[in-house]
Amino acid sequence: MVHENCGVVGIFSLDGHNVIPFVIDSLRALQHRGQEAWGIAVPGKSPFRRLGLISSAAAEFPTVVKKYKSHAAIGHVRYSTLGKSTLENAQPLKVKDLCVAHNGTIANVEELSGMVGGCTFTPQTMSDTLVAAQRLVMHLADKEDMAEAMHILKGEMVGSFCFTFLTDGGSVYAARDPRGFRPLVLGHHRETNTYMVASESCALAAVGAQLVRDVEPGELVKMSKGGISSQQFANEKPHAHCAFEYTYFAHPSSIMEGINIYAARKRIGQFLARKFPITNADVVVPVPDSARPAALGYAQELGLPFEEGLLKDRYSRKGSMRSFIEPYQSDRVEINKGIIPIQEVVEGKHVIVVDDSIVRGTSSAEIIKTLRMVGASRVSLVVTYPPIRYPCYAGIDFPSQEELVAYQHGVTEDSNATIGARVSQVIGADHIAYNDTSNLAKAIGMPEEELCFTCSTGNYAPLGIRPVFKSRIQMKGE
Ligand code: SF4
Repeated sequence: MVHENCGVVGIFSLDGHNVIPFVIDSLRALQHRGQEAWGIAVPGKSPFRRLGLISSAAAEFPTVVKKYKSHAAIGHVRYSTLGKSTLENAQPLKVKDLCVAHNGTIANVEELSGMVGGCTFTPQTMSDTLVAAQRLVMHLADKEDMAEAMHILKGEMVGSFCFTFLTDGGSVYAARDPRGFRPLVLGHHRETNTYMVASESCALAAVGAQLVRDVEPGELVKMSKGGISSQQFANEKPHAHCAFEYTYFAHPSSIMEGINIYAARKRIGQFLARKFPITNADVVVPVPDSARPAALGYAQELGLPFEEGLLKDRYSRKGSMRSFIEPYQSDRVEINKGIIPIQEVVEGKHVIVVDDSIVRGTSSAEIIKTLRMVGASRVSLVVTYPPIRYPCYAGIDFPSQEELVAYQHGVTEDSNATIGARVSQVIGADHIAYNDTSNLAKAIGMPEEELCFTCSTGNYAPLGIRPVFKSRIQMKGE
């Protein structure tokens, strides 16, 4: 099956400006959310889609800007939570006269595919976005109203979604799931009177647009010649904003639910220092890039030196990319080899390494080995996210329990300290201090019950499912 996380944008210029340059620049700003494929859709044409980074198609930009000239468009960057990285899985997708881009995961896609006659789908080709879009088009044909159609579709779907839609008539819509798992913001570019929605506010900033507000969970925003309007298609409480966005996934400059990601990460480091003060260390080193603010906060709180003891090789093919969201294990290992230690910073020292999470343990084990090779005398790992023991069915790619090192070495009733002790043996650390959900929620600045921690706690209530866990091969066909 093909499930999506990714980044989405939807843009409409009320003054009729060509928005394609905005789409390209805003997607580039969302590249950290997906590096496998990207695409743009405009009314009345087949979507333009490419594999790889947006920058690698730079030579095509002038042609794309001219050929797809439009005052209305949607765009997408893709990172597959399940399924193969092929062009046919790139988005936006088009079903009849509706183009769709999706960030999230529809967990009951097989059930939904039965409603659209999906018996020909295979586990490798089934796309949750395509199935949801086909079902939405069926409801639209019946109801002729997007909010009503979304209300019905929401009742049929289990999972997380931020959709942007584009009709051949030239209207742009954005819909966020009623729990608000994935982020979505609304912005406005004054000079061109252009409205836009995007997964993160960094995409607004990239084109000089102002952040207006978050799109509310359960809200449908419509942008068309008649202006901008909004309707609630569903209301559900409590919300379940993904806590992993705050520690790892989102860009540090972004603002979500009124909280700046950089400031939240720095606070997370400060709160960790109060909870796990390792005062006899010599230096605090972040794992680049997401953990930098947390490491700085940790070091400042304890008065320890903060140093960049690990650097990403920006010039190798994979070195500057993000390892966790790479779909294939060989690519993850190649990225980790692109992390270079600074011997002068760590040699002969007790090093506190601050990382945003331990998922499979691949990256952490490589980094610790590297630090020891250049002479670190002791390596303590401070982890901003609690142990990840359960698959995410709301859009992040740790789909099978067998891949999760904290699951392999810690069953449900174990404490974080016990899991830390076991995982430290596996990855070669002298000590691991894992954050907990309550400390993390306080540091983010949100009530714990408004955040999703399912991958740590195994509580799938926000999704309303009791999943039967499958292996990676069953889910991705690889
Ligand atoms: S399960 Fe984890 S990664 Fe998935 S939405 Fe919830 S907090 Fe985020």
